[in-house]
Amino acid sequence: MRFLIAGNWKMNGSRAMLAELDRIAEAAAAQTQVDVAIAPPFTLLADARPRAGQVWIGGQDCHQAAKGAHTGSISADMLIEMGARFVICGHSERRAEFGESDSLIQAKAQAAQTAGLTAIVCVGEDEPERDEGRAVMVVAGELDGSVPPASNARNLVISYEPAWAIGTGRTPTMAEICEMHAMIRAKLIQILGEEGTRVRILYGGSVNPGNAAQILACPDVNGALIGGASLTADTFVPIVRTASAVGANVSQ
Ligand code: PEP
Repeated sequence: MRFLIAGNWKMNGSRAMLAELDRIAEAAAAQTQVDVAIAPPFTLLADARPRAGQVWIGGQDCHQAAKGAHTGSISADMLIEMGARFVICGHSERRAEFGESDSLIQAKAQAAQTAGLTAIVCVGEDEPERDEGRAVMVVAGELDGSVPPASNARNLVISYEPAWAIGTGRTPTMAEICEMHAMIRAKLIQILGEEGTRVRILYGGSVNPGNAAQILACPDVNGALIGGASLTADTFVPIVRTASAVGANVSQ
């Protein structure tokens, strides 16, 4: 399975930051065995697309409706018109700050897929849930509630992102990541049948050039979703190169 290395710029960046995208696109062109993606803020999508080369450009959220009276929202079709290929659905910051539920995230992912986008659906436990030993159960429930049941490997990617690891510099142990990804794989097979074996499962949460090789070597880790380290080519490109090197060494 090809690795997907995806960056989420969140609410960061102005036009000047597209210089980083230029450098990422140049590096991605030389790493043809890895898929590379960047989700800039909506306002940069139109400018980003012609500079992205082989890098997938995508949104950080979309509305579940195709159009209508939803002030401030963006539809999946609008993202497509701007050149987007994917959209992140249910990032833990959307779940926590905007109260997004599993059923809303499922509706957004469904709308994205209907429009022709790949939905990167995020799941992950918070710190108390991990401490109380409920992480696997919580993530399994999020998958049941937020994965559109007719998804396939082209229009769905899952990203496991423990909320307590995002932007903190802390990561789960490799055993915890491997355990969670194995459960997610089993759950995807339960929900999607055979197709579930082919859906990519990313890990996200404080991935950096120093820990990427170890994380990407976990079975059923098929790439990474990266926040802070995606903001500069200096930290993002080494992760893309690591994925390329690890991908060449493991048969997946
Ligand atoms: C994220 O926000 O999805 C993320 C993984 O952030 P960071 O890499 O900064 O932890």
